[in-house]
Amino acid sequence: MTLTASAVPDPTRPPAPPSTGSPLGPSLGPSLGPSPAPPSPHPSRSGGDLLIRDARVVTPAGDPWRYLQGSETGKLRLLGNTDVRIRGGQIFEVGRGLKPEEAGVPVLEAGGRVLLPGFVDAHTHACWAGDRLEEWAARMSGASYQELLEAGGGILSTVQAVRAASEASLAEALLARLNQALALGTTTMEVKSGYGLDTETELKMLRAIRAAGAGWPGSLVPTACIGHARDPHVPAFVTQVMEETLPAVNREFPGVAVDAYCEVGAWSVEECLRLFRAALALGHPVRVHADQFTSMGMVEAAIELGAQSVDHLEASSSETLSRLGAAARRGARRGARDRSRGPGGPPPRGPAGVLLPVSGFHLDDRYADGRALVDAGGAVVVATNWNPGSAPSPSIPFAAALAVRKNRLTPSEALTAVTHNAAVLLGFPDRGRIEEGARGDLVLLEAWDERELTHSVGAPLVRATVCGGRVVQAS
Ligand SMILES: [Zn+2]
Repeated sequence: MTLTASAVPDPTRPPAPPSTGSPLGPSLGPSLGPSPAPPSPHPSRSGGDLLIRDARVVTPAGDPWRYLQGSETGKLRLLGNTDVRIRGGQIFEVGRGLKPEEAGVPVLEAGGRVLLPGFVDAHTHACWAGDRLEEWAARMSGASYQELLEAGGGILSTVQAVRAASEASLAEALLARLNQALALGTTTMEVKSGYGLDTETELKMLRAIRAAGAGWPGSLVPTACIGHARDPHVPAFVTQVMEETLPAVNREFPGVAVDAYCEVGAWSVEECLRLFRAALALGHPVRVHADQFTSMGMVEAAIELGAQSVDHLEASSSETLSRLGAAARRGARRGARDRSRGPGGPPPRGPAGVLLPVSGFHLDDRYADGRALVDAGGAVVVATNWNPGSAPSPSIPFAAALAVRKNRLTPSEALTAVTHNAAVLLGFPDRGRIEEGARGDLVLLEAWDERELTHSVGAPLVRATVCGGRVVQAS
């Protein structure tokens, strides 16, 4: 089997107009979800038309607004020898024996290979300048953390480089990285600011993220990580963030999630809570880096506060993970109750636990106990944490492979954690699943069994990435 030439994007072909008819046309095959995906609240460009033939379709299924959590996490739908028709960038039909509706519509012959939803990377710091190669080489030669700091390494070296970079150069570097991720199957990515540590540079980063997103076929979600670290030269740093940076972010990026790094030497629980309460009052959802090295009670505080996610969890105790699981179960029950009363937006949810195993791989071989969290009924997301210091990998397949070996998820759970659950966390009801009405974001693997995604390590496993109905990357 070869990828048909017609499936490779033709830059001379004008984009297809947005579908004006209902995306919920008659299906010739089995329906893949309990209900079609609702439209995304996030704007997207009009997309392409494409017919994918003879794929092994593997997808999470279920309520687009709810996590698959606890024992549901690994439940996937599998459909062999199945075709997927995309119109105007949206999945229009999933069935068997579909024919091209008109000449010129590209056809991607899958030859029975595995077709997955496009990957959603829900935690990255992919906007940076400079590099940390010297520091890494010194660490590999046995230098201590203190020696690295004294030599000018650590996050503050990235902060210096980002402050010195122009907005355009940050955007250009980020776009190049986004295209690396696209080649690895990522079609939606969250990117945090946080290397500015002053108002002007945080805004510059958020503008660069927005600019890079405008030039990328995938979807980019900015997060204002204004509590990432602290500037040692500004004694009242937290007050500066509260009184200056947060209001400025609110004016220019209303509604964007606000994030902080709760750790010894970074932000305390109390400082995080001050920032988060102010952010919530201004209409910003909050996420938090918690328990990477030290368990400080931030997970419990985040549950209490209604944070969207707690990310890292390497140092979390089994009691903390049980509490997080219980909160997710309560959130799901509350959500189901609210949904039964009628429409009205997304239901409340307990915080998701975001596992970032590339950090453990790169730094210290410590990993969150994802198994305990799932067994406690929790909602898990797996992400790369892509950044130059602690997680230098854009690869969701690699993160998922680590999640199975180190966070003890099953291959099916890891797949849900990088698709549907990550999409729920970022607020996209129209992706993370292969079903009618969902956005045409898909990954065709060079594999005939979906477990290969997490079994294989380092192989060029992505045969084609489809984004908004267009083949944007084909090997
Ligand atoms: Zn992070």
